[in-house]
Amino acid sequence: PLTANQIAAGEVVERPVSVVKELIENSIDAGSTRIKVYLEEGGTKRIQITDNGWGIEAQDLPTAVQRHATSKIISFDDLNSLSTLGFRGEALPSIAAVSKMTLSSRTEESPVGFSLQVEGDQISDLREIGSPVGTEIIVDNLFYNTPARKKFLKSPSNELGMVSEMVGRIAISRPDIAFELVHERRTLLKTPGNHNLSQVIFSVYGNEITRSLTKVEYKHGPLIRGYISNVQTTRSTRQYYNFYLNGRFIKSKDLSEALEEAYHTRIPQKRYPIAILFFEMAPELFDANVHPAKLEVKFKDFQPIKEALIHAIHNALNDPSV
Ligand code: ADP
Ligand code: MG
Repeated sequence: PLTANQIAAGEVVERPVSVVKELIENSIDAGSTRIKVYLEEGGTKRIQITDNGWGIEAQDLPTAVQRHATSKIISFDDLNSLSTLGFRGEALPSIAAVSKMTLSSRTEESPVGFSLQVEGDQISDLREIGSPVGTEIIVDNLFYNTPARKKFLKSPSNELGMVSEMVGRIAISRPDIAFELVHERRTLLKTPGNHNLSQVIFSVYGNEITRSLTKVEYKHGPLIRGYISNVQTTRSTRQYYNFYLNGRFIKSKDLSEALEEAYHTRIPQKRYPIAILFFEMAPELFDANVHPAKLEVKFKDFQPIKEALIHAIHNALNDPSV
């Protein structure tokens, strides 16, 4: 039978990419400026996240992996207005319940670090370790104890592709953080962390895409800024739509359609644009999905947002009709 933690894990932890996303968000919440992700077999064998954030005090390590020990939710209304990325206090316990987890951390105040391991419902004693300030979490053998879920994993290269896409998307949202993604012996992504967005885009997408981009800026109503491709590239999928709402990566069918509409009146080929767009708007104007794993956002009144987006894109592409 599944434990409560294993059931909860189904909500948050579907595959390696969900683990990586949750752990990176924790690292960001802890003020990290360097986050390294190391994977083996697409994350199915090992996921290791190392950050230089403020760390976890020894006395808090066991609570961090216990369910609901850290939940900050007060009511559903808070979901939209919370400013930190983490809000459920269940990522670590959920991941620990379906893997073999090692959690190591050191705060600035402590001369040494501490480490513990979780396997099943067994939490080990704390062990003193030498370590720099920050946190390292190792997640081994994901779903080793929930074979039904393990069966839904794709091949390591598929899983790796999803992780790589997600890390790229998060990296673009935080040019102030240096990200590194390593798979076994291969470095897949390395961003400088020097606040320079176009350098991050270059690290994530390479030269062809970066050179195809032109600036988008809209300052009346919803704030929109970012980049869109104004020449055709050899890429032709919606995979290159990157929407961020108040700093967080989101998905939105409405935004995708409006983007295509705006793009195709200017560039009529049946190609998909590359878009990296940051939207800023008041939290009352949208519903962030309550389901932790889904990123889909619903706008309460999309029309003004759509008009703003179309305007912004047309301006960026120098459409003479606007
Ligand atoms: P949440 O992020 O919703 O609070 P998590 O289960 O993701 O819950 O994490 C539990 C707690 O462990 C966090 O609230 C935080 O205090 C601590 N924590 C987790 N990861 C890190 C990290 N990388 N650096 C510092 N503290 C961390
Ligand atoms: Mg969290």
